[in-house]
Amino acid sequence: MSMEGNVALVTGGSRGIGRAICLELARLGAAVAVNYAGNSQAAEETVQLCRSLGAEAEAFQADVSEPAACEGLAAAVKERFGKLDILVNNAGIARDGLLMTAKEEDFMRTLDTNLKGAYFCTKAAAKVMLRQKYGRIICLSSVVGLRGNPGQTAYAASKAGVLGLVRAAAKELAGRDITVNAVAPGFIKTDMTAVLPEKAREAMLTTIPKGRPGSPEEVARAVAFFAAPEAAYVTGQVLCVDGGMAV
Ligand code: NAP
Repeated sequence: MSMEGNVALVTGGSRGIGRAICLELARLGAAVAVNYAGNSQAAEETVQLCRSLGAEAEAFQADVSEPAACEGLAAAVKERFGKLDILVNNAGIARDGLLMTAKEEDFMRTLDTNLKGAYFCTKAAAKVMLRQKYGRIICLSSVVGLRGNPGQTAYAASKAGVLGLVRAAAKELAGRDITVNAVAPGFIKTDMTAVLPEKAREAMLTTIPKGRPGSPEEVARAVAFFAAPEAAYVTGQVLCVDGGMAV
């Protein structure tokens, strides 16, 4: 599997799963555009790690919840690298709270980032990919989007929404050799899960048949499968990387 000559844009590439995806795609030969929201230092670290693997890489700040910022991001990547072959919609947040007490603003912010962000970036990237007649779009969903989880109505709704977006876009774009797929991680060790209370983490572990959290690198390998030219006949699919949680 080689991505030599491909250009990839990874949203939220500064940390966690996004960084591991940047490194996996760089290792496979892609040039990598590392998007971030505010953490420029972490984004620059990802860029340096990609370069140390021999890949071209550059950081691009953009808040994916802003449609104009997503347009600008895709245009800036095209300007810098000349094309855009792979989009990974990875940027995401979790603002948890029980249905009856959670704030509406947290629900809206979660949808704005996780769902609308994926929509805006997909639209902006598809504009370039349609002209190229080639593209690979991968969205990070979640087992929570498939199964639900108490205290995560906003997050679950956003991640279930992503699956609808993936399936519809897959059908629309298939004729131009553009595939759209989803990866649904379970419980992965990153900053996002580090903030969970110890009790919640222990409870979560009991629901994983493999009995351990996953690593960002394990998710990145599934993303790379969909991102490869060889995955041309796979579209509209969701692949769980969850140690058996969703079974
Ligand atoms: P993380 O460690 O919290 O990192 C989040 C990343 O998203 C950071 O790079 C952050 O950029 C970026 N980001 C957040 N809001 C953004 C915005 N508005 N615009 C642009 N970038 C933004 O998260 P993670 O655990 O790696 O999760 C990555 C993806 O996998 C998310 O979509 C998440 O929902 C999904 N996922 C994670 C798990 C898990 O167990 N960790 C499970 C299932 C699904 P800055 O560094 O600039 O803040």
